[in-house]
Amino acid sequence: MEEIYETCFLSSVPRFLISFLFFLFTSTVVVVSLPEDSSAIISRFQQYLRINTAHPNPDYSAAVDFILSQAKTIGLESQSLEFVKGMPVVVLKWAGTNPDLPSILLNSHTDVVAVEHNKWTHPPFDAHIDQAGNIYARGSQDMKSVGMQYLEAIRRLKNSGFQPVRSVYVSFVPDEEIGGHDGAEKLAESEEFQKMNVGILLDEGLASTNENYRVFFAERSPWWLVIKATGSPGHGSKLYDNSAVENLMKSIESVRRFRAAQFDMLKAGLKEAGEVISVTMVFLKAGTPSPTGFVMNLQPSEAEAGFDIRIPPTVDAKLMEKRIGEEWAPSSRNMTFEVWKKEFFKRKVPVLPVTDGSKPWLALLEGAVKKANGKLGKPEVFQASTDSPFYRQRGLPAIGFSPMANTPILLHDHNEFLNQVEYLKGIEIYESIIEAYTSYTDHTRNAASRDEL
Ligand SMILES: [Zn+2]
Repeated sequence: MEEIYETCFLSSVPRFLISFLFFLFTSTVVVVSLPEDSSAIISRFQQYLRINTAHPNPDYSAAVDFILSQAKTIGLESQSLEFVKGMPVVVLKWAGTNPDLPSILLNSHTDVVAVEHNKWTHPPFDAHIDQAGNIYARGSQDMKSVGMQYLEAIRRLKNSGFQPVRSVYVSFVPDEEIGGHDGAEKLAESEEFQKMNVGILLDEGLASTNENYRVFFAERSPWWLVIKATGSPGHGSKLYDNSAVENLMKSIESVRRFRAAQFDMLKAGLKEAGEVISVTMVFLKAGTPSPTGFVMNLQPSEAEAGFDIRIPPTVDAKLMEKRIGEEWAPSSRNMTFEVWKKEFFKRKVPVLPVTDGSKPWLALLEGAVKKANGKLGKPEVFQASTDSPFYRQRGLPAIGFSPMANTPILLHDHNEFLNQVEYLKGIEIYESIIEAYTSYTDHTRNAASRDEL
């Protein structure tokens, strides 16, 4: 990571300064020293990272207190909502000069996933910064970085005297990592949200391992599938057709072949991660328990397997259901199945937005990133889940974007980190985006539809 850091650092510094630094540090390790303003920014980020909002016991009240105190110093209006007890949603507002225009909503979640403390080099809630400038903490990528970057960008824009035409809202929601039902889902359904008259939502994306930031305009829908086989029980020594385990194994083989074909397209670079159907077996259940484990001479009459499936929006859900019913769990082999999917993913496949001039929000984002000397990759389908579908299902365009280039993807991983130079660069990127979005006045319709992205 040092190599990456030095590349970023050197490219933004004049040549004479490089020579001077080279002279200064040739006999010692390069230690990052930031200007005073940046040090204060990094230290605020560390403060937020140090609040332990990991499941199963997230300290939401400390996070809320911190966010509200930040809002106060920046001079933003704030409201703390609690649709479900103990699940606080904070909404901040920077009023625009034209309140009739649809507003911008910048969303982030305050919760983070659990950690295995002993697997981390630096404690996950210390926000330790190593000599290369990497900030280690749970949430440094997913997504306390983004939440704080929104605030820092607004702080700077405000200090510079910038006046937004459209209003900007910043939402901090709980529970995204466990489904988002008490936070983002409730906010999206609320009267308060109606009043905000939101025209575009920005939400989380993913780190990029190269110099191009990643941007997401849709996400795959999760289907949780349980297939169940039944068959005659029998002695363990007997060979016979149609036992439950035999039936289930045939299905698993069929699923495995399908999975391999999808994975091959990904490995060959023919498709991106968000464009393939992923199928992952998450449990297997069979056997007759005994005090010492399982009865070994008995073939069970029931066997079950569970799969996490992610379906891109381009896939016809009906065909997928047909495949499950006919190949993976056919009744001819005494099999049944159940698919659990979120209500909004059961609806008709939406028209995919494209990036031509008539779709303002993606084009504006692209322009703003470029203006701040960043590069943007091709718009993608997000491979996992975020809070965005709660809004997209209401016809609101939502873009997933976390400005982290040249960074390994470490969300939910051990030793999650973000380099401080990358973090600071992200603030400049958001300044540029917020400036472009809030100044945009041509697109005045309320709640733009998905294909207007
Ligand atoms: Zn996240």
